Amino acid sequence: MPQVRVRIAPSPTGSLHLGTARTALYNYLYAKHNNGKFVLRLEDTDEERSQEAYTHDIINHLKWLNLSWDEGPDIGGSYGPYCQTQKEEHYRRLANELVAQKKAYFCYATPEELTILKEEQLKSGKASRYDNRGRCVSEKEAKAYEAAGRIPCIRLIVDEPRVITWDDLIKGTIAINSLDLGGDPILIKSSGMAVYNFAVVVDDIDMAITHVIRGEDHIHNTAKQILIYEALGKTYPEFAHSALIFDAEKQKLSKRKHGEFVHISKYASTGYLPEALFNYLAQMSWTPSNGQEIFSQTEAINDFDLNKVSKSPAIFDLTKLNWFNNHYLRQLDNETFKVKAMPYLDLLDLNSYDSNEIHEMLTLVKDGLNNLSEITQALSFFEPKPLDYEKLEFMEILNQDSASKILNLILNNMASFKNLDAKETKALIDSIGVTNGFKKGKELYMPIRIALTARLHGPDLSRIFTILKTQQVQTRIKNALALNLQTKS
Ligand code: GLU
Repeated sequence: MPQVRVRIAPSPTGSLHLGTARTALYNYLYAKHNNGKFVLRLEDTDEERSQEAYTHDIINHLKWLNLSWDEGPDIGGSYGPYCQTQKEEHYRRLANELVAQKKAYFCYATPEELTILKEEQLKSGKASRYDNRGRCVSEKEAKAYEAAGRIPCIRLIVDEPRVITWDDLIKGTIAINSLDLGGDPILIKSSGMAVYNFAVVVDDIDMAITHVIRGEDHIHNTAKQILIYEALGKTYPEFAHSALIFDAEKQKLSKRKHGEFVHISKYASTGYLPEALFNYLAQMSWTPSNGQEIFSQTEAINDFDLNKVSKSPAIFDLTKLNWFNNHYLRQLDNETFKVKAMPYLDLLDLNSYDSNEIHEMLTLVKDGLNNLSEITQALSFFEPKPLDYEKLEFMEILNQDSASKILNLILNNMASFKNLDAKETKALIDSIGVTNGFKKGKELYMPIRIALTARLHGPDLSRIFTILKTQQVQTRIKNALALNLQTKS
């Protein structure tokens, strides 16, 4: 058996998509499980849509997911990607060889002629396909076209009808009729650029790729590519097509419908941990043999098996991803958590707190987060600026007689406590409740929570007291009481 060599071949026409990341992950796991090599190749032949910024985004986020590739051009001590645009000459030479061998031909059809053909097919209810008209252009006609300034593309001659079959490592036997491939496919466009199906085959041959693992939206491309391998006289690699990722309504994940949430960058910037996203994406269509949902990259490598990848589509579920991320966030030790939380804390004005208090704030929220960016909102009430109580749901509670009594009692009794630590605070609030007959729970706690945080829910109240310290607590309670008086007068 030759060494396993797989690749991920994204086109830099957009940021790294969740689906591409999952394909990269399966390729990576397959390579590592088999002591093989994982290669990154950027399919940048689409001159109009390819962008340098997308190249960076793809590279950075593959690295962020810890899917590093094993070879590539040296870019100052690390591996860059292979790029197709550097090989245009090579593709053209090979396509011209196929023309010389009569396996391909120059096609002079203009875009206008092809549009007319399409319209005619549409009118007569036929599927739109190229009618292979270029196969029988004589030398004389070709010369005339060239004299008229037409620049040909190169098309492959496809046997029609013919059934192209292969044993797919995920889907089992697949059979595609060559009549369903849209007519003789283009290899080189009239611009001189190779099309995806040709460049991909040439590259996979040049890079000695042994297994092509990609999404099932490429199944018809695979049939075309097998014909190209045959024309080039090469054996084709193993193919494995994984089912796509859909949303709950069985729609493909698309930027138009799902916005930035189809891109890995969105998860990286909102504070998902790469380990969580890796685990979530890996388990979407594959379960390790011990049936565990939570597993590390190393465990996945040890156990990965293409045979166990599901044939049915995976459903993307943000709630489930949040569950994974919450799990991995909780596993972080406090120091690491703090470092990762800093960018989100830095968006708040917390200069008046010392590092112990910041540490305490973080422990208040750590266990309940879906992602780190939630920290900013969850802790914003600690900012020293006055809170906004002018919401109907707050006013209704603050306007109750019991609320003003409770808040006044807290103000009056606070002074007698030395530290106002969490224990003392809890005792203070509870004793106010007991002495005055306020029900523990909503009646007793809610006015205090609203006064201190302008929220209905949140972390443990007595710990909030301690972090805010006596002066802030007093100011906030007075502000809340003032509002209470205002609305009553
Ligand atoms: N550039 C193709 C894509 O992004 C690659 C498909 C393949 O793996 O061959 O879908």
